[in-house]
Amino acid sequence: MSPTAVVRFAPSPTGPLHLGNGFSALYSFAAARALAGRFLLRVEDIDRGRCRPEHEAAMLADLAWLGLEWEQPVRRQSEHMDDYAAALETLAAAGLTYPCFCTRKEIAAEIAAAPSAPHGPDGALYPGTCRRLSEAGRADRIAGGAPYAIRLDSGLAAARVGTELSWHDRQEGRQALQPALHGDVVLARKDTPTSYHLAVTVDDALQGISHVTRGADLFAASHVHRLLQALLDLPTPEYDHHRLLRDDEGIRLAKRHGAVSLSQLREEGWDPAELRRSLGFADL
Ligand code: GLU
Repeated sequence: MSPTAVVRFAPSPTGPLHLGNGFSALYSFAAARALAGRFLLRVEDIDRGRCRPEHEAAMLADLAWLGLEWEQPVRRQSEHMDDYAAALETLAAAGLTYPCFCTRKEIAAEIAAAPSAPHGPDGALYPGTCRRLSEAGRADRIAGGAPYAIRLDSGLAAARVGTELSWHDRQEGRQALQPALHGDVVLARKDTPTSYHLAVTVDDALQGISHVTRGADLFAASHVHRLLQALLDLPTPEYDHHRLLRDDEGIRLAKRHGAVSLSQLREEGWDPAELRRSLGFADL
């Protein structure tokens, strides 16, 4: 018998859930049902500046109204910083990380001055300024109290994992890993001791997620996650990046009722079964 599938929906409580989030949540829930698997909800709230308890409460209420049921307790990333710190320590001990003192402004200026700045899926890559600092230079700046992020040295990481790795997406098939696609990504931010990439990779492994279902906007991010799995010796789930709800679908639903947030639709008296049908999930 194959092991039970585990699927998650992992929203960030930074504001009201909109129709696109509702579609993504239903997609993940439907995937768990189709696989006769477990369904988990994970609250991705590492960004303490933007995430709010009232957004989380509203989010859970919206998802319950939409008809989703999830296991308890819900994992809240802000409560598990030790797990991310341990993973970061493993990468640091392997010599794969470095502190980065650059401000956004400095990075932008350096990129603007470079004749051909390399680009990744999200724009220009970090130019590697702090990778070239000496150990003494780093120690001096840290001793002087300069705030710093931690970045992955993607060149060293790529050399470490070799050229044979891949991951699989249900829509797009096998993807050969491009370990340096995103350059030297941030693993811990100046204001919070982890990053989206690190936390999501660690959590998917700790929670035994077998199928990662999420929007196609995060397709390229899976290269980073696969790379971190290899470096941290974590299992690789199956991926399924779903299409994003097109604007006109959202507008169609909104036009009839003048709203796109789930809570507004709820207040306007939408029947959740009708909304599920409108989003293509009649069978849930
Ligand atoms: N927390 C992320 C978001 O809200 C999604 C993470 C994921 O599904 O991997 O965009």
